[in-house]
Amino acid sequence: MPSEFDIIRRYFTRPVKRALLGVGDDCALIAAEPGAVLAVSTDMLVEGRHFLAGADASQLGHKALAVNLSDLAAMGAAPRYATLALALPEADESWLAQFAQGFFTLADAFGVELIGGDTTRGPRNISIAVMGEVPPELALRRDGARVGDQVWLSGCTGDAGLALAHLNGRIRLTDAALAHCLARLHTPLPCIALGLALRGLATSAIDVSDGLVADIGHIGERSGVAVELRYAELPRSRALEACTDESLARGCLLAGGDDYELAFTASADARGRVEAVAAELGLALTCIGSVSAGEPGMVSVYDAAGKIMQPECKGFDHFD
Ligand code: ADP
Ligand code: MG
Repeated sequence: MPSEFDIIRRYFTRPVKRALLGVGDDCALIAAEPGAVLAVSTDMLVEGRHFLAGADASQLGHKALAVNLSDLAAMGAAPRYATLALALPEADESWLAQFAQGFFTLADAFGVELIGGDTTRGPRNISIAVMGEVPPELALRRDGARVGDQVWLSGCTGDAGLALAHLNGRIRLTDAALAHCLARLHTPLPCIALGLALRGLATSAIDVSDGLVADIGHIGERSGVAVELRYAELPRSRALEACTDESLARGCLLAGGDDYELAFTASADARGRVEAVAAELGLALTCIGSVSAGEPGMVSVYDAAGKIMQPECKGFDHFD
């Protein structure tokens, strides 16, 4: 059986280039570049809550880091460092090797250095903190949306929710749709390049982790504005278009969660610049609504006839 220190040395000690000091001391030492500040965020994945016992270790390593990097993307920060606190029921070396492979493949893709953490026996729990850099005046905060701004969404929502509906037996996806939706659920990619491109362009941003309506509601609350969304204009994947259970499709689009797309606002004048970013990055960016005066945090969804819908729009509450 490897000891705690064997595990740290074998699986989680990598040389660092940017950090002044990485794994192995009481603390890591880091500094932000001149003109930048550190953007810091933590997200935890708990077995039985965020993933099932027996989940693929490599995908868990990927996803645990991806959901954290998604928060840096939503802040317009460039990813730099991560720490990893792991509780594991046993020191399973094949699990550790696969987890580390999934984690470091994604970390390398985004230039993230693992600089510390904690390792202990316990119910399986993966807690990661990430640090990125951003000039403070360019950070994409939630509180900058203004009445008249347009609301944009990258990619589309709903696919991870569809995958869950399939796994729970509520629908049966075709093999191709299932493969697509499972990849969205288990190996999401954080929208880092988009976050960086939106610096100085978006007036506010958030990553869609808990459901589109709920997360856009957070922008509304923090900005003191209401938001109007046009249901017919929400982008949909082929898998979602093919879903004949209209109520499920609507639930997935508006409240599915686990999407890790960026929702953001920009002034109407900036429309051409947003479209130029989409073209440059080869991304779909869709204008899905607008910011209005009204009850702060209220998100209204309108159908194609301009009628307000009664959406199942509650977001994911972790204490449900
Ligand atoms: P301490 O007793 O000071 O908490 P530890 O013995 O827990 O230190 O950890 C030793 C070193 O290994 C520290 O630098 C810590 O940040 C690092 N470390 C521990 N677990 C992990 C992990 N899972 N991933 C990365 N670094 C880790
Ligand atoms: Mg420790």
